[in-house]
Amino acid sequence: MVEAATRPGVVPYITAWSEEQYARFDVVAHPAGGIAYRDEVPHDRDADGVLWARMTHARGQGRPDFGRVHFGRQRRAMRALLCQVCGGPASRTDEGVLWLLKDDRADWPGWPEGMAATHPPVCLACARTAARRCPHLRGGCVAVRAREFGTRAVYGSLYRPGVPAPVAAAEVIAASREPRARWVLATQMVRVLRQCSFVDLAAETGLPRAA
Ligand SMILES: [Zn+2]
Repeated sequence: MVEAATRPGVVPYITAWSEEQYARFDVVAHPAGGIAYRDEVPHDRDADGVLWARMTHARGQGRPDFGRVHFGRQRRAMRALLCQVCGGPASRTDEGVLWLLKDDRADWPGWPEGMAATHPPVCLACARTAARRCPHLRGGCVAVRAREFGTRAVYGSLYRPGVPAPVAAAEVIAASREPRARWVLATQMVRVLRQCSFVDLAAETGLPRAA
C-alpha cells in the first residue's frame, strides 16, 4: 500500500478502518469440489467463481488501520483499475496503467515483467504526491506502466479437504481460472503485469529530479 502517498489526514482508499471487521464464517466442502460457505450468498464469489473472505463495510468509521487492507475495496480498485490512494481512475496512457512498485529489480532479469501485483494502481496526482512527500520512495519504489494486466489471480488461504470441514493450509497466489482457485478463500485480487516500462515520474509530472 502506498501509505506515503497520503496527504496528512487523507487515508488511502483501500485502507481498512477499525470499525471494519472480519466477519465470522463457516467453510464447508462444495459438492462440486473446492470450498463454500455454509450460508453462502451469490456476492460471496467473484465473476471467476472464487470465494471471497467477508469483511464489513464502515469506511471512515473509527481509526484508519494502515496495516490492514479492506478486501472489498482492494478488489474493487484492482478490478476497475482505480487508484489505491484516492479511489479515482488510475493513470492510463498509451504506455499502460501506472503502478508504484517496491524496487525489486534485483529479483530477476526483466523485472517487473510477469510480476503478480497485489496493490492496485495509482493516479498521476497521487504518484506525484508520493514522490514529493516521501524522499525514500525515490530510491525504494519505482513507477511502472504496464500495457497488459488481464491475467487475474487471487491471494488468500488455500484449503485442503478435511473432516469435518476443509482446513486452511497455506497462503498462496492462484490464477483465478485454475482449478486450485476453487480451494482458495481470497482476500486480495492480483493482476500479473506484462509489457512493462519504467516511468520517469519527474518528467511526467514536472517534479524536480531526485539528487
Ligand atoms: Zn489517486
